[in-house]
Amino acid sequence: MGKLLFWVVLIGLGYLAIRLVAISQRKSDAARRAAADAGHAGPGEPGRATGRVGGEKMVQCEFCGVFLPASDAFVDGERTYCDRAHRDADRVRQRRE
Ligand SMILES: [Zn+2]
Repeated sequence: MGKLLFWVVLIGLGYLAIRLVAISQRKSDAARRAAADAGHAGPGEPGRATGRVGGEKMVQCEFCGVFLPASDAFVDGERTYCDRAHRDADRVRQRRE
């Protein structure tokens, strides 16, 4: 009877050890995936026209396409620019078209 109990305990401990290893592997996989996801999602991600960085609205310069906080942008009607020179350059370009 004592021998049977010994084997039951041994198998139980072996099962527990395998479970713990599997759980810790799953956790490190999840951490690695989360780190990879964080590395991919940047503010300059293509295909994202506007977004929010640090709670401030981001806008895109109509001339060069750079993203900047709305408070730093030069606004001309519906259009936004990174600086006055690009606003003027875009006006000249629009007049030509
Ligand atoms: Zn610009």
